Amino acid sequence: VPLPEPRPFSYALPKDTQVKTGSIVQVPLGSRQVVGIVTDDEPEKIAPQRLRPITRIFDCPALPQELMRFIRFVADYTLTPTGLVARQVLRVPAALDPEEMLEGIVWNGRHLNKMTPARARVLALARDGQWTPSGLAAAAGVSTSVVTTLQKQGIFDAIPLPPPALVTPPEPNFSPPQFTPVQARIVDEIKKELDSRHFTTLLLDGITGSGKTEVYFEAVAHMLEQGRQILILLPEIALTQQFISRFHARFGAKPAEWHSDISPRQRERIWRQVIEGRIQVVAGARSALFLPFSNLGLIVVDEEHDSSYKQEEKFFYHARDMAVARGSRANIAVILSSATPSIESQVNARQGRYRRLVLKNRFGSAGLPYITAVDMRKTPPEPGKFLSPPLIKAMEETRKNGQQSLLFLNRRGFAPLTLCRVCGHRFSCPNCSSWLIEHRFRGILLCHHCGYHKPTPEVCPACGTLDHLVPCGPGVERIAEEVQETFPQARLVVLSTDLVGSVKQLRLELEAITNGAVDIIIGTQLVAKGHHFPHLTLVGVIDADLGLTGGDPRAAERSFQLLSQVTGRAGREDKQAFGLLQTYQAEHPVIQAMIAGDRQAFYVHEIALRQREQMPPFGRLAALIVSSEKRAQAEHHARLLRQFAPKAQGINILGPAEAPLAFIRNHYRFRLLVHGQRNSDIQNYLRATLSATPAPTSGVKIAIDIDPQSFL
Ligand SMILES: [Zn+2]
Ligand SMILES: [Zn+2]
Repeated sequence: VPLPEPRPFSYALPKDTQVKTGSIVQVPLGSRQVVGIVTDDEPEKIAPQRLRPITRIFDCPALPQELMRFIRFVADYTLTPTGLVARQVLRVPAALDPEEMLEGIVWNGRHLNKMTPARARVLALARDGQWTPSGLAAAAGVSTSVVTTLQKQGIFDAIPLPPPALVTPPEPNFSPPQFTPVQARIVDEIKKELDSRHFTTLLLDGITGSGKTEVYFEAVAHMLEQGRQILILLPEIALTQQFISRFHARFGAKPAEWHSDISPRQRERIWRQVIEGRIQVVAGARSALFLPFSNLGLIVVDEEHDSSYKQEEKFFYHARDMAVARGSRANIAVILSSATPSIESQVNARQGRYRRLVLKNRFGSAGLPYITAVDMRKTPPEPGKFLSPPLIKAMEETRKNGQQSLLFLNRRGFAPLTLCRVCGHRFSCPNCSSWLIEHRFRGILLCHHCGYHKPTPEVCPACGTLDHLVPCGPGVERIAEEVQETFPQARLVVLSTDLVGSVKQLRLELEAITNGAVDIIIGTQLVAKGHHFPHLTLVGVIDADLGLTGGDPRAAERSFQLLSQVTGRAGREDKQAFGLLQTYQAEHPVIQAMIAGDRQAFYVHEIALRQREQMPPFGRLAALIVSSEKRAQAEHHARLLRQFAPKAQGINILGPAEAPLAFIRNHYRFRLLVHGQRNSDIQNYLRATLSATPAPTSGVKIAIDIDPQSFL
């Protein structure tokens, strides 16, 4: 049952009914009825007459066996009760019943006494096939009343019709591209792997613009030809119209989309048509991994390095790693695609667990951007400003040439900190240990952790002075203001999640950029992924150091990936493009690798560092996060966990320490970090620790994060 229970319950099967592993049923639980999945566990030893019967067997195909194995694996790996993982699969109540049939009509062979041209057109179409009355009327170009009149005259029989498929089937040979010899060779290798029909993980490693998508589309086409289903995972932010259009252009139809903007009703229909095998391709965000494909043949994880694949609420899992796990259970191929693969995937490829396929050159004549660092110590901006003279000059030249510039700053809002110039009061969130970020456009101070906000005051709440609040540091809105002052004639667009009101608005703004109706783009992370800007030839990174510091073992990797992705937006047509990185640490290995255009140097350096420090993937990490509304309780339980943790060879437990985000949404937080050797059974160690430790007092929560990506 989809509840936080560690094991299944036993029920009696009513006479003359049948179920199998994966069947979806309804069962009584206490006084309620809940949905459950039939498993192949040993039943509990309970006298049969004491068992309550299954109340209903849904008219729904059973969940495929590979999905059943996958649910168990995810539960074991993430230390989540199996029922909670199953809930990911079952969050579609209405999909468990078949879709409602439509009222259809079919011609019964009778003839009419009186024929009109309109009736003749209707009959000509009705001779072959089954129709809905409105569908027939529309196809014949007549009003619905013509068809209903004919219905009354008894020349049609009523039949139930299944609702139409949500998406038209994609055609594998609709519009295959012309490949370069290198691409063609990789396509061939992928097809060979697919034809061997066993589990394999392929790392498609190619710089931005090298045609990775076109290449994996061939794998999709190959599996479509064999009648298999395909799942394409994308970071939610990259699931744009641009991707859907590319898919449409290649296959003549759209994939089914699965992400947070899809309505619950639509999700239910997609789920049902996926399990019935009527939908062949789903392009979705991480939760699409739990869809009940009946005949899954391939999983593609695009932008496999993207940190948004890690879910860090309810239960913690990494969708890329779990995609590989599902591929293994389904015995199919998994393609991981990235311009800047994660260190984990690079190492897996080096050690032979993944097969690495490299696309070195850009598609067509486009070259990589020429990247330089702007040393902010030598050429600082004017006081109170953030654009350095070399960046301003480059932007002027770009405009003169009729091309676009992009300024990147991964910080929403106007300023990251607001303080009172008179008394020094800083605005902080009452629910979290974080500053309130000024969002000038919306006129509010906002907490980026819990969403708390209030109107930006004119008077300091501490000393009462009027109009003496000063913003410290830049956010994208402040950069936009500075650009507007510096280039009053330029057409600007700011792309930031809180300024872009809707998917539709984002679509329009991206179109304006593509059509050249914009001179300067200012954006956060939102611009870094998946978009193709044909007129863009200059990328300026306002603060390349942001993200380089901090205690996060993945800080350097993330910075490198983000900087590569952002600068890779430029120069995707045949114009030379430039990237300028504003930095105070020009000698940092990440900045150096960017300037040298030497991604290999970065990977060699970073992998050696991880190996030396036994950090993932050379060692294993897990985090325990203890939280409570009462600080003392959280700290006490964190200490208990440490105290009762068993001794184990090759595994250390560190902490507890107050979390860097010590207070979020009114909860105090403490963290413990478990560090183990590569082959250590960190899950077992955690299970032993949790069961040895006395149960927490009420109000204390423990979150378990295997392979943590965030250390806050
Ligand atoms: Zn003050
Ligand atoms: Zn907050």
